[in-house]
Amino acid sequence: MATGTYFIRSCPTCGRTLEIRVELLNRQVECSHCHGTFVATEIEERSISDLRIEQALARTQQFLDSSHAESAAGKLG
Ligand SMILES: [Zn+2]
Repeated sequence: MATGTYFIRSCPTCGRTLEIRVELLNRQVECSHCHGTFVATEIEERSISDLRIEQALARTQQFLDSSHAESAAGKLG
């Protein structure tokens, strides 16, 4: 069932998006764009992007909180 399944990984050398076969996970692969080689780790990449998303969400929430507070203060003042 897993035949033909790919995961997305960006090349650390040229930064372009690659489709890597799941069979090559945690193995050394060659970028089809720049021919640079790297180990295709999916988990590390995902945890990094999850962290970035959490940080971005936290920042957005802080911004919303502060703008709410300002507009409420403006109406009162
Ligand atoms: Zn590349």
